[in-house]
Amino acid sequence: MNLNKHFLELEDSYLFSTIAKKAAAHTQANPDAKVIRLGIGDVTRPLAPASIAAMTKAVAEMGEAATFRGYGPEAGYPFLREAVQNYYSGKGVKLSADEIFIGDGAKSDVGNILDLFDKNCNVIIPDPVYPAYLDANVMAGRPVYYIAGDEGNGFLPMPDAIGAQGINADIIYICSPNNPTGSVYTREQLQAWVDYALKAEAVILFDAAYECFITDKNVPTSIFEIEGARGCAIEFGTFSKFAGFTGVRCGYTIVPPELEFGQFNLQKMWARRQATKFNGTCYIVQRGAEAVLTPEGMAECAANVEYYMNNAKIIAKTMDELGIWYVGGENAPYIWLKCPDGMTSWEFFDKVLSEANVVGTPGSGFGAKGEGYFRLSAFNSIENVQEAMKRLKEVL
Ligand code: PLP
Repeated sequence: MNLNKHFLELEDSYLFSTIAKKAAAHTQANPDAKVIRLGIGDVTRPLAPASIAAMTKAVAEMGEAATFRGYGPEAGYPFLREAVQNYYSGKGVKLSADEIFIGDGAKSDVGNILDLFDKNCNVIIPDPVYPAYLDANVMAGRPVYYIAGDEGNGFLPMPDAIGAQGINADIIYICSPNNPTGSVYTREQLQAWVDYALKAEAVILFDAAYECFITDKNVPTSIFEIEGARGCAIEFGTFSKFAGFTGVRCGYTIVPPELEFGQFNLQKMWARRQATKFNGTCYIVQRGAEAVLTPEGMAECAANVEYYMNNAKIIAKTMDELGIWYVGGENAPYIWLKCPDGMTSWEFFDKVLSEANVVGTPGSGFGAKGEGYFRLSAFNSIENVQEAMKRLKEVL
């Protein structure tokens, strides 16, 4: 049997299982401790009523012969592609509905898109970042190069980090707002990335999973706000964070027709790839997603986003009061802080868990450059966030 040997090159990911084990052991040893979890990247607020109503109606349609639907179009129903198109036009970004491909979430597509690229393409990945980018490329045996985030660049590496390594970049992952650091690229910085990619004939894979948390009007929420991006970028969006669809599953991938390299057209390739390997997102879910893009649904989801961002402010204010260095929290639901007193990420995790009964995420789980840092998430109730911050102030 000749299996994919690249699976042996994957690093075992113990991050969330180790966190869960340590938290469980702590709870067992301290049964009265009320442990507060600010470690998870999952949303906590329930679905918007508009999406519940739309999905309930869609379920009823499926129960009647006259309105039953079987396989839908692989790229999504026109009603949802057009709703996403309108959502973008609201941000001043003109898209055509047929460059929007509906899928079951950003995680699948940031990996699936790699079907379009040769196995020898050089892949550029920020460090630290969402681990799925690295693993999807390691599985395919592609060479990966890191661009480092640090305090100096505010955890926003720029193209000079590629030039310094003397690499010809083919695929460049950009995640803005970033998970785990919560930092966001400015318009000028994104323009520099687009200019670089156009010159290098590279493709930017732009993960906009957290775009709904951007509150600063000057910060782009889409790479397609940047001049030239249609010639070098693919964007991944999701209903997971905005609409709380982490368990419902719906997202979209935008592939402009301008992405042409010699005889290859990436939009045509992606359409073909999806038609071959994907049979469409659930009709009921697509109706739910359509509903969150109506004015009523948008208002309900925006209220949830505001709720989380208020939590983020509370966390950021606490870090200010404690004199702890951090980024994020302003345009993202994550606060990325520097562990005090030179502690490693796990040392700080253990201290905060044992002394404050608070769970966060060790930064080292997101890449080597995350060592010495720690992620706190705003996805929890305001009461829990307030209580967790009160405890952190006591122990730090
Ligand atoms: N991209 C980033 C940066 C994420 O942090 C996550 C999930 O936390 C995803 C994508 C996955 O999104 P989805 O739920 O749409 O698969």
